[in-house]
Amino acid sequence: MRLGGCNLSCRWCDTPYTWDWTGIGDTGRAYVPHEELHPMPWQEVYERLRAYDVPLMVVSGGEPLSQQTRLLPLLRALTAAGHRIEIESNGTVVPRPELAAAGVRFNVSPKLSHSGDREERRLVPEALAALAALPGTAFKFVCRTTADLDEVAAIVARHGTTPVWIMPEGRTPDEVSRHLAALGDDVIARGWNLTTRMHVALWGDRRGV
Ligand code: SF4
Repeated sequence: MRLGGCNLSCRWCDTPYTWDWTGIGDTGRAYVPHEELHPMPWQEVYERLRAYDVPLMVVSGGEPLSQQTRLLPLLRALTAAGHRIEIESNGTVVPRPELAAAGVRFNVSPKLSHSGDREERRLVPEALAALAALPGTAFKFVCRTTADLDEVAAIVARHGTTPVWIMPEGRTPDEVSRHLAALGDDVIARGWNLTTRMHVALWGDRRGV
């Protein structure tokens, strides 16, 4: 489930249609909110998600924790029905304890300087500490070069953001492959986890329905 709205504005964001209404991202395109956002009651969202009949559901964005209070009834209903829930977050919002109590896990992607977001916006110590303290949280950093890995190491040392996953930045299979090859040896040497972007390898920058 992809939610609209984000409190950051990463220049390379691959989902600018969730928040970029002025064209400040790399694409330069200004998206139109009423074309992209579709408000609906949570009960309707619940029925649509249940119809997929899958055990694991991922809530992404945008920044889902910006709407965490309104998400609670939906996520409680889904976990009560036996679904596992993971929330993807940029790590700038302290999660409400009710989310973890409902069994929600977090995949957190703090942003580096190449995102173009100011440091005080993209690194919020109390939010990172709260997320790192929850069982099952994973931290995923989007990187291009080995210099980015030094920046990751500094964040990990300061904020305790482990376990670390490194994902290559890229909106095309070529970009992802190039960055993955540039990062691989260093990531292994540092003892971190390396991942690729399966959806980009399969579908490039094409949007789903
Ligand atoms: S935090 Fe995520 S959704 Fe928000 S602008 Fe950055 S990459 Fe895009």
